[in-house]
Amino acid sequence: MSKKIAVIPGDGIGPEVIAEGAPVLEQLGFELTHFGWGANKWLSEGIGLPPDALKNLSDFDAIYFGALGDPRIPDMAHGREILLGLRTGLDLYANMRPIQLLNNKLTCLKNKTCDDINFIIFRENTQDIYGGHGSASNKNTPQETTIDESRHTYAGVARIITQAFECAQKSVTLGHKSNAIKFGGALWQRVFNEIAPKYPKIKAKQLYIDTMAMEFVRAPEQFEIVVTSNLFGDILTDLGAGITGGLGLAASANIHPGRIGLFEPVHGSAPDIAGQNKANPMAAFLSAAMLLDFLKLFEPAKKLREAVKQAIERNICTPDLGGQKTTQEVGSFIRAQL
Ligand code: ATP
Repeated sequence: MSKKIAVIPGDGIGPEVIAEGAPVLEQLGFELTHFGWGANKWLSEGIGLPPDALKNLSDFDAIYFGALGDPRIPDMAHGREILLGLRTGLDLYANMRPIQLLNNKLTCLKNKTCDDINFIIFRENTQDIYGGHGSASNKNTPQETTIDESRHTYAGVARIITQAFECAQKSVTLGHKSNAIKFGGALWQRVFNEIAPKYPKIKAKQLYIDTMAMEFVRAPEQFEIVVTSNLFGDILTDLGAGITGGLGLAASANIHPGRIGLFEPVHGSAPDIAGQNKANPMAAFLSAAMLLDFLKLFEPAKKLREAVKQAIERNICTPDLGGQKTTQEVGSFIRAQL
């Protein structure tokens, strides 16, 4: 096997957690190539995503990504250019984020167990309000008015909903706000109603996004796959992380079926703990497990998840999970389980 993986560690705790997860991929025989895109390159050379980046990445099977963000670049200009550039440039339209409780002790929800919290959010990843389209008039006056355009296309909505149904075994629940968001909300609901009948064995359900937030907390066991738009997905996936142990455990995949995929922890660069050997590397390991699943290496992916569970079970954890271990100690323990 000669599989090639592009590694983009990024900023802050990104390189720290990727340094723990990357050796697992190396041990499985992958050839890793590191790309130093991030805050330092942006500040020293003015380059975020190099012009030939997308072309270069086409040689790889997958991208293993850390995090972007740096207090020296408060508007995250480099982060937008790199991460949004990759997501849109590679058309990685499906952002999949498992909301899976790995140990009963990790949830803040009363009487909920690992059997109750186990679903996946499919977040549309290329459209909505993040496109940077809009305007601000009468800036810095009491009359200031801002408009941010939230764009949704029929094709964009249809492909993420189709992907959700393709991956479901029991149910797909749409999170939307068609009662208040006149055009986009109606589009999402209509497309969902069109696609659902093509999958008669899958139960199709719909919830207003605010109700869905409440249901995540009240009865998470009702969900198998949730599908929603970019902004709603952004918010809901952090709520999902919150009920399963926090950002240190939240993994994600950005994919376009049949093409390259990008796998990254949900957390950002966490400048407050960067350089202190405190960052939880588990989300990076679990993102590597998603990468392995994507490349159909199901057995190593399963073993990696089991190793993370072992670490949690034995409290080999960083302070965010109540442990006293360092990033490197947790990483070494997990790798030793393999
Ligand atoms: P960015 O601007 O890059 O998104 P941020 O600090 O605003 O950075 P996150 O990095 O997502 O946002 O993190 C929010 C907080 O959660 C951090 O300040 C940190 O304390 C905590 N956190 C995030 N990831 C981890 C992790 N892997 N291990 C431990 N704590 C974490």
